[in-house]
Amino acid sequence: MTLDQQSVGRLSRMDAMQQQAMANATHARRVQMRARIAAALARLDAGEFGWCEECGEAIPESRLALDPTLMRCVGCASG
Ligand SMILES: [Zn+2]
Repeated sequence: MTLDQQSVGRLSRMDAMQQQAMANATHARRVQMRARIAAALARLDAGEFGWCEECGEAIPESRLALDPTLMRCVGCASG
């Protein structure tokens, strides 16, 4: 039985590329989440936290409990 070195090498390269892509996606999500949290904290400082940036209505606490970085109420987010 002979091992096809070339195809094995190609497979592990694809594997490495896939892992790299997944690492990049994870990193991008973290960077994005950090930016959203920073924005939420800035709104907290400005006294604008919990208010819909679109219509100015209060965002329900139950909604903010799920994701404190949300900037819009249910109606505006779905509209
Ligand atoms: Zn709204």
